[in-house]
This record gives sequence, C-alpha cells and structure tokens, in this order.
Amino acid sequence: MGMRSVQKTIESRIECSGIGLHTGKEVFLSLNPLPPDSGIWFRRVDLPHKPYIKAAAENVTQTSLCTTLGNNGSGVSTVEHLMSAFAGLGIHNILVEVDAPEIPIFDGSAQHFVELIEKAGLKKQRASTEVFSLDERFSVSQEEKKITYYPNKELIVSFTIDFDHPLLRKQEYTFRFSEDGFVEEISRARTFGFLKDVEAMKKCGYARGGSLENAVVIDEDGVLNPEGLRYPNEFVRHKILDFLGDLYLYGMPVRGHFVVYKSGHTLNNQLIKALKNGKRKKHDSISAIQKPVQDFLSNSPEFKIFSA
Ligand SMILES: [Zn+2]
Repeated sequence: MGMRSVQKTIESRIECSGIGLHTGKEVFLSLNPLPPDSGIWFRRVDLPHKPYIKAAAENVTQTSLCTTLGNNGSGVSTVEHLMSAFAGLGIHNILVEVDAPEIPIFDGSAQHFVELIEKAGLKKQRASTEVFSLDERFSVSQEEKKITYYPNKELIVSFTIDFDHPLLRKQEYTFRFSEDGFVEEISRARTFGFLKDVEAMKKCGYARGGSLENAVVIDEDGVLNPEGLRYPNEFVRHKILDFLGDLYLYGMPVRGHFVVYKSGHTLNNQLIKALKNGKRKKHDSISAIQKPVQDFLSNSPEFKIFSA
C-alpha cells in the first residue's frame, strides 16, 4: 500500500468516431487492451506501416495549442483530454488507434473518453506499478506562469487562472485526486476560448472543427454557448483536466502537491522534464512534508472550502 498501484487496462476493444478540432474532419478512434508493463501507445492506422508512438514526455513535439506526440515525422495532436481520462481512471496499458493526425475533440472535455473506457470495462492486471514522487520542493516557471511542487503522499493540484476578462478574471480550485473525484469534478469541464482567438485560429487554418459543440466560447459580454457553464468555475477545472493529462506523460502515476499558476501545455511539459531529472523517492516518511500543504491550504480561503 502506498508505493505501488495495480496496473489497469480495458476489458475489450472499443471504437468510435468524432470530429477533429483542427482538421474539421471525422476521425476514427479505437481503444485496445494491452498486456501489463506496455504503457500507453498511439498508432496512426492511416499511414504506411501504421507507425506507433509512445505516450511519453520525450515524444512531445509541440505544445502551442494542444499537446502533440510524434516521432519520425508522424504525429498525433490533442492527446491531452484522452490522456487525462487515462490518468483519471488509472489506465496504464492501452493502444489508441486513429486514422488522422489528431484525437477527436468530442465536447471539449474528457467525458466522452471516460464513458468509452467505462463501456469497454476497466480490467485490473496481475502487475503493479511504482508510484513516484520527489522528496524536495521545486518550481518551474515561464514568464508569469509557475508550477511549484511540494512533496505529498497524495496527488493534489491547486490551480489558479487569471485572465483580463470580467468573467474569468481569477479562478482557483484545488483537486485532491481520486478516480471518482475526477469523473465528478473534472472530467466534464470543457475547453474554452475567446471568440477573437477562435476567429484568428480559423484564419490560420486551425480549429476548423471548432464550434459551440466542443468548446466554451467567450466574447466581451459572456459565454456564447446557449446551455451556459457546467460548473461555475468550469475554466479552472478544465485547466486541471489538461494538467493531469500532461502530467500522465511522465509514464506512471506521480504523487505530490502541485501549486499551479496560469500554466499551459508548454510549462506542463517542462515540469515533466524537471520531474524526470529530479531525485525520485518512494513514500516511506511523509510526516515532515505535509506542512507546506497545510500552510498553503490555511492561507487560501477558497482552497480550504474545496479541500474540506
Ligand atoms: Zn484542454
């Protein structure tokens, strides 16, 4: 207990299709069980030789609008929401096949992926995986964006966003990881964008499939989606969804308290590289390292409410 967790895959293959955010075209996707210690793999079945790409931080080729994995010229983008569903449900071994350069966007959250995995059925495997953490606090930053890591026996993400917009000026949320908590609190939060940015992206050939069906779109006056928001703080919850998906590219479960200010895919990827270079330590003594977390929580009223 504590240092290891049981590996999981899915019971059986499952297929679906959906629109790709950037190409605007229909993408076929299948999830396939893999044996223990395989890890998470993507495969481009539309390309000659159907190349495989491992979900790993060193295979991240681009982080500007989404997280893209690739090697030898073949790639898959927008993997983060699917990776987040794998992280959230504790899937260790799985093969994702797609016939396009991107994962379908569905509603812009991880909900569809969670439902798909649950439909395929979770399968515990006769193998365990180590859970890694570092034994010292550290930070990575990029301009004003910052992530600070505090050693902790659980995975906790305290995220703050701060935009120059009345609707989402500042949102803070602390998520203490659990699989049920992920499904309830995080998996349904949709990606979001400002109308002016969406229009600019379309002009550059991106987000061709972008619509109110797969993102929360905001203009100066508010949310354009007729159905409104799924949570009052859906934006910051989505950032946690992205963060968990990017963090899972570490290759195994990571424990610790991440205090994140305005991070995106680029800084998330730098964090993973820093984690890889850091000193790993199994959890055997946690009493001394709980204090920074306690201090953090007691200094932030909003965090206190959500972490109670
Ligand atoms: Zn996202």
